Amino acid sequence: MICLRCGHCCKAFMVPIVDDPEKGVAKDNIMMHKGEGEPCKHLRGDKPGEYSCAIHDKEWYNGTPCFFYGQVEHGNQECRIGRYMLNILELGKCQVD
Ligand code: SF4
Ligand code: SF4
Repeated sequence: MICLRCGHCCKAFMVPIVDDPEKGVAKDNIMMHKGEGEPCKHLRGDKPGEYSCAIHDKEWYNGTPCFFYGQVEHGNQECRIGRYMLNILELGKCQVD
């Protein structure tokens, strides 16, 4: 899936995340990101379309729920939620191709 870096899922979704990036994926190093509009502690940036994840390049990232969420689209397709969110912000409407 192509993440469009809108930041929506990293703010709105309740998801288990790694707490301390230095410790990686370990039982005592998982916390719940509550979502509800509050940015994940690992989210960087302040502009939809330009957000990034501070732990995305860690070698253990593909063992996180966030990685598996990134596999929901078929192949190399844009994230539907991201396209929807950016269209609303940029065009003031939802545009479907
Ligand atoms: S860990 Fe990264 S991808 Fe997962 S919610 Fe936080 S910022 Fe988003
Ligand atoms: S484009 Fe999709 S995966 Fe990327 S931050 Fe937005 S909602 Fe999340």
